[in-house]
Amino acid sequence: MVAKSEELVRELIERVAGDIGLIIYALNINGEFTDEEIAMRLGIEINDVRRALFALYELGLAEYRRQKDEDTGWMEYYWKINYDREREVLRRELMKTKRKLEEKIEKEDSTVYYICINGCVKISYEQAIEMGFTCPRCSSPLEYLDNTLAVEKVREELKKIEELLREIV
Ligand SMILES: [Zn+2]
Repeated sequence: MVAKSEELVRELIERVAGDIGLIIYALNINGEFTDEEIAMRLGIEINDVRRALFALYELGLAEYRRQKDEDTGWMEYYWKINYDREREVLRRELMKTKRKLEEKIEKEDSTVYYICINGCVKISYEQAIEMGFTCPRCSSPLEYLDNTLAVEKVREELKKIEELLREIV
């Protein structure tokens, strides 16, 4: 993968699974391991290790199987990191962001907004009429919001996401 995608994967993991998730991921363990082994190796609380691993699991970057330990009778989790799914996960997350940005643009484009001059609220034209163009919080006048610049920024963001998506095909 290109360096950019690696950076994005790291950002994604850090956001969802925190520093511990990132550390575990960076261990590059191929094959199975238990949360206990990781906790011992890193000197981190086992619950923190589990939390991070489940977050990675939610992302699709880790999987586990449970097996009863014959000696203790406890359920043991055997984890595996899905390094080969990096690209797929990243793509899916970028697609999610892309859709969100597109929805935002559509909403901004189809709505006329008014804002309080003190910045308390941002509401639609219809709502502004109902409120007599007065802020419901501070009673100051509401004024028309030119969102052209804001929409332009979202469009730029969207373009970047689309470029990234092309790069990581
Ligand atoms: Zn106000």
